Amino acid sequence: MSAVRRQRSEELFARARELIPGGVNSPARAFGGVGGNPVFISHGRGAHVWDADGNEYIDFLCSWGPLILGHAPRCVVERVREVVGRGSSFGAPTELELRMAELIVSAVPSVEMVRMVNSGTEAVMSAIRLARGYTGRDKVVKMAGGYHGHADGLLARAGSTAATFGLPDSAGVPRGYAADTLTVPYNDAAALREVFAQCGEKIACVIVEPVAGNMGVVPPRKGYLEELREITRAHGALLIFDEVITGFRVAYGGAQELYGVVPDITTLGKVIGGGFPVGAYGGPREIMEHMAPVGPINQAGTLSGNPVAMAAGIATLSELSRDGVYQELEAKAASLAEGLCTAAEEAGVPLRINRVGSMFTCFFNDGSPVVDWETANRADRERYARFFWAMLDQGVYFPPSQMEASFVSLAHSEEDIAKTVRCARQAFAACAG
Ligand SMILES: *Cc1c(COP(=O)(O)O)cnc(C)c1O
Repeated sequence: MSAVRRQRSEELFARARELIPGGVNSPARAFGGVGGNPVFISHGRGAHVWDADGNEYIDFLCSWGPLILGHAPRCVVERVREVVGRGSSFGAPTELELRMAELIVSAVPSVEMVRMVNSGTEAVMSAIRLARGYTGRDKVVKMAGGYHGHADGLLARAGSTAATFGLPDSAGVPRGYAADTLTVPYNDAAALREVFAQCGEKIACVIVEPVAGNMGVVPPRKGYLEELREITRAHGALLIFDEVITGFRVAYGGAQELYGVVPDITTLGKVIGGGFPVGAYGGPREIMEHMAPVGPINQAGTLSGNPVAMAAGIATLSELSRDGVYQELEAKAASLAEGLCTAAEEAGVPLRINRVGSMFTCFFNDGSPVVDWETANRADRERYARFFWAMLDQGVYFPPSQMEASFVSLAHSEEDIAKTVRCARQAFAACAG
């Protein structure tokens, strides 16, 4: 726990807990993964945030992924100001939605048509409905440790006979909703083959984060995504890449561009909203035109394609389309990861860093590879918590859980990275032994 007093944050959290369940509007913000109370943020600029007590932090949470340009980038702020002054919602089509669709379609290999929604959860929920409506099948396969938002059917874990039914992973999810969700280990194509051998004709789709980002960062094994592509195709099931984190993050065209594997449906969120609530799902015209009003599958949204959110997203994607942006992110993140590795080694703290471009996780394990949920779970959460607080107290904000991704933005400077490595030396020393 913290050695720094954050009185104003403590006061705000005490009041919030009276009015908001757990004091937060999304559970992970409550710092349950590291113990202690959350820091209330007052504002952010570039790679830095300030808390309610005026403490400054270098931010590697980046709002859990969206802020690839850092906080309050001028290009986004200026466009949002312009657009919001002309009306923030019309419930009618606007040219901004069209521009956003053009940008996504031209960037993401699998996407010929796209529908905008308001969150990653909503994008995934709609994509699953589309896969079911398109195939006329009910079952969905997900990976253990994969997170796809909080739609009922995806809050499921493996039952004892995983290939026949899943079990709810949250109170309030009816057994029936989870029963059609099957779970297999990530990076294990053989397990998926087995499930398809047992009930392949009932499986509508396989949904996967092409780079897992919600059990900490876990890259796909060489050839794994290709195998997913081949297995789903052989059985007439759709392959959904949940690129809510990886879209416009690991490459402009997402993980599908980086690894050269094209899914049937892609879900997007986080980065494409430029810090506003946005999600999207897309695919080939032949599949997407099963959605209303062209086809029979319903999906709607009062604020979907919201002009202010579109303006923020368009400004962000325009910035990301510039030459050298992803090389710059790669260079910054590589130098940080290298610095952290060396610092850990010097302190005698075994560490495994998984990184794909500007997303990474420091796993506090014995140094062995992390390839799936089971190996991710071997990491020492308690040691991570000590690292987290030691960093926070020195002014560096990492995700408040071992099982999450950290993000580097274009706003992080060399000095930010150097300072982070200096702080990590102290933090590793504090959590050695
Ligand atoms: C964050 C996330 C979601 C959910 O997005 P929300 O905008 O939080 O609803 C879905 N899938 C993945 C892979 C995510 O990381």
